[in-house]
Amino acid sequence: MRLNNKNGSLDFFREKCRAFNLKVTPQRIIIYKELFKSKDHPNAEVLYKRVKNIIPDISLDTVNRTLITFSKIGIANVVEGYGEARRFDPHTENHHHFRCINCNSLIDFDFKPYDDIIIPGNIKKRFTILHKKVLLEGYCDRCQKNK
Ligand SMILES: [Zn+2]
Ligand SMILES: [Zn+2]
Repeated sequence: MRLNNKNGSLDFFREKCRAFNLKVTPQRIIIYKELFKSKDHPNAEVLYKRVKNIIPDISLDTVNRTLITFSKIGIANVVEGYGEARRFDPHTENHHHFRCINCNSLIDFDFKPYDDIIIPGNIKKRFTILHKKVLLEGYCDRCQKNK
């Protein structure tokens, strides 16, 4: 069985760390757990503030470096950027995004037909496709109300 991190499982985390020779430290576990609890695709600074409540003497740099390491070994993904600070996604399995162009919130959703989307032949020939992700953009429910 291929482990995934759908439930934020520590087994998945431990196995990934082991595979990449990364030590499973209490600090890394806490950063992983906080990232996984975050539904907002936080950047390092946002997550740092949450982790700091648990580990008061942690530095932003440590959180940032840990997140980059996580994304390198497949524990997290870096979200496509819009000229802002790099944001992280704890969900590495197939899913799609809605982005609000007003408040920049990024919301996960699942939709099977998007998973099965076809890649054009000329793209397939030129590039190696690793992920397929559909991005819908518009106004979120909150911003719609305030307009
Ligand atoms: Zn919005
Ligand atoms: Zn996501």
